Amino acid sequence: MIQEYNIRVLPEVAANEQRLIDYLVNEKGLNKKEINATRILKRSIDARQRTVFVNLTVRAYVNEVPKDDEYRHTVYNNVEGRPQVIVVGAGPGGLFAALRLIELGLRPIVVERGKDVRERKKDLAQISRTQAVNPESNYSFGEGGAGAYSDGKLYTRSKKRGNVDKILNIFCQHGASTSILVDAHPHIGTDKLPRVIENMRNTILQCGGEVHFQTRMDALLIEGDEVKGIETNTGQTFLGPVILATGHSARDVYRWLAANNVEIEAKGIAVGVRLEHPAHLIDQIQYHNKNGRGKYLPAAEYSFVTQVEGRGVYSFCMCPGGFIVPAASGPEQIVVNGMSPSNRGSRWSNSGMVVEIRPEDLENEELGMKNEELLQTGEGGSSLNMLFLQEHLERLCWQQGNRRQTAPAQRMADFVNRRLSADLPESSYAPGLIASPLHFWLPPFIANRLAKGFQQFGRNARGFLTNEAVMIAVETRTSAPVRIVRDRDTLQHVRLRGLFPCGEGAGYAGGIVSAGVDGERCAEAAAQYCEVL
Ligand SMILES: Cc1cc2nc3c(=O)[nH]c(=O)nc-3n(C[C@H](O)[C@H](O)[C@H](O)COP(=O)(O)OP(=O)(O)OC[C@H]3O[C@@H](n4cnc5c(N)ncnc54)[C@H](O)[C@@H]3O)c2cc1C
Repeated sequence: MIQEYNIRVLPEVAANEQRLIDYLVNEKGLNKKEINATRILKRSIDARQRTVFVNLTVRAYVNEVPKDDEYRHTVYNNVEGRPQVIVVGAGPGGLFAALRLIELGLRPIVVERGKDVRERKKDLAQISRTQAVNPESNYSFGEGGAGAYSDGKLYTRSKKRGNVDKILNIFCQHGASTSILVDAHPHIGTDKLPRVIENMRNTILQCGGEVHFQTRMDALLIEGDEVKGIETNTGQTFLGPVILATGHSARDVYRWLAANNVEIEAKGIAVGVRLEHPAHLIDQIQYHNKNGRGKYLPAAEYSFVTQVEGRGVYSFCMCPGGFIVPAASGPEQIVVNGMSPSNRGSRWSNSGMVVEIRPEDLENEELGMKNEELLQTGEGGSSLNMLFLQEHLERLCWQQGNRRQTAPAQRMADFVNRRLSADLPESSYAPGLIASPLHFWLPPFIANRLAKGFQQFGRNARGFLTNEAVMIAVETRTSAPVRIVRDRDTLQHVRLRGLFPCGEGAGYAGGIVSAGVDGERCAEAAAQYCEVL
């Protein structure tokens, strides 16, 4: 017999199978001798009250042995000799598109400008050592895309649960822990992601697909109103319909599209800073305990959102027990982002703290973009204006950071009180920090809203607004500044047949899972286009 229970237990019970069995025996009347195994199906932490509980859905196998697999397998057959589809970009959008193409009997040719996920790691280490960013291999470019060296958070606001579950199951099939199927806020961790990504690549290769690293798409091959393939910097031409999954940092791709009159439009983004607290402080606040998280709870998360003067101000992509990383993808830029290892065990917890900005806000003088040079209105200009805003802020930050990757930073309470920080706390950001008056040089549109947002968050969570926390500038790559406009039904570009704008860079996803879901959808649309569906 299989029995399932929704229970609410203390963290030490949830963390130990024997204690869980004892709980089921005592509270649910099961006979200990008859329980062969238990399996946790869902897990979430309820830290709203002083005593923290863990909500579990648990399955008990009573006089039975588990026969079901812990995850659903997808079958990938050989696709050699089948029609080919070009997938540009090996981020989650491109990788899940390629795997879905195989499922549907099409042969993916994946073209990726960066290096494979292991080689790429060496270039990431170089950023802190030499202060230089390799424009083809960095936190945005390379196998695994922007999500490879990240926290690997896998939760999404997507309502289509079936699609999300499939993505999570495919991650498990390629080596991710099955805990991602159980946790309310699953994550993989930057130490585990590279192996999972390699395994996904191996599936593509073993089934007869191709993966070309250090191969950058430089142009689409367009005939009339149809895309026939791509040209690359290696001099190769690849023919077939194109799934364009190049992410939000491929500014050369956006510029090429604008210059070649391929319809794109400016899109709202959110901009701000990374905020870093000591992890134990966030644990104390969120778990209402001066001793912090204790032995059985994970590093605590938070999520804040408010409205200030008509724009959203919110925490973004929180990394409990993580690190702040230099995520620029080219010269003369500072961009920060966050990642965490699977155990979320670092001494710091960080999160993006950002302000929503809409294309119409570019007209607002407080954003400092009204200068003609910054707000270009020439050919392709207005559709790229949000991109120009990102570039402007990233360059400004680089100038404030001494023209290196040392990032300008300010203590949180000092920022709110408009004071320069005399010194800075220890930080996880490896290239180093430089004390800087962010309240003074960040555009008032952003700085004033952030300050008011912080005051609000400090009222909601006592101890959060503190000088123990440091703000590090600048977080600009929260989503794409451009939408590559596509048809709702066919997912093809609005004018060009055979072109499938995909994932975050196209403006149709935000985050690893939603990019993966969109990759699958684009593969299905490409299969329809190739008439195999
Ligand atoms: C440090 C960091 C941490 C993050 N943490 C999380 C997290 O924990 N959870 C989460 O959900 N999201 C996270 N994100 C965001 C997430 O990574 C992205 O939403 C996701 O990767 C988008 O997937 P994508 O495939 O659409 O694009 P990308 O992942 O950006 O992939 C695009 C790929 O295309 C390649 N490419 C670009 N131009 C070309 C070209 N011309 N020719 C060939 N190849 C090209 C790039 O090299 C890249 O590999 C994080 C991002 C960063 C940078």
